[in-house]
Amino acid sequence: MVSETLKSVGFEQHDHDVCLEKAIKAAETYCERHKLQLTPLRRKVLEILLGEHRALGAYTILDLMREAGFSSQPPVAYRALSFLVEHGFAHKIERLNAFVACALPDTQHSPAFMICRKCDIVVEARSPSSSFDLSATAIVTGFDIEQTIFEAEGVCHSCVEKVPA
Ligand SMILES: [Zn+2]
Ligand SMILES: [Zn+2]
Ligand SMILES: [Zn+2]
Repeated sequence: MVSETLKSVGFEQHDHDVCLEKAIKAAETYCERHKLQLTPLRRKVLEILLGEHRALGAYTILDLMREAGFSSQPPVAYRALSFLVEHGFAHKIERLNAFVACALPDTQHSPAFMICRKCDIVVEARSPSSSFDLSATAIVTGFDIEQTIFEAEGVCHSCVEKVPA
């Protein structure tokens, strides 16, 4: 397999090996600090999600787990995914019914995503809470916000470039 260390993630070029390693380390540190178990299975699911900056459906994840030698059943994969989501290592993309590794682990944030409808690349952005903040309205109306989801669909810059003029 050709190791392609610099690959496009839609919006920016970066060393993905470093990116992956950092994310795994961050998860390990977090789990240690919070006395959580990053079991081999949970770790593998996180690695799979980190493998590409794309959203993956539960069944794709399951296939990749089997390829990696984990003979896991759907409930096991779902449990690992909800562990990762619960602790902020991954997010669910409601629009695609798929999962993506968090790009900003260890920071308090409401996830905001830009999803390319051509290549399925998902870019996580820092939530623009000042430009669209529901919390003031929520307080006035007595609404208890549990989760805010920002998902924008469009075409990433690599896919725009591929369109013949
Ligand atoms: Zn990366
Ligand atoms: Zn995130
Ligand atoms: Zn794209």
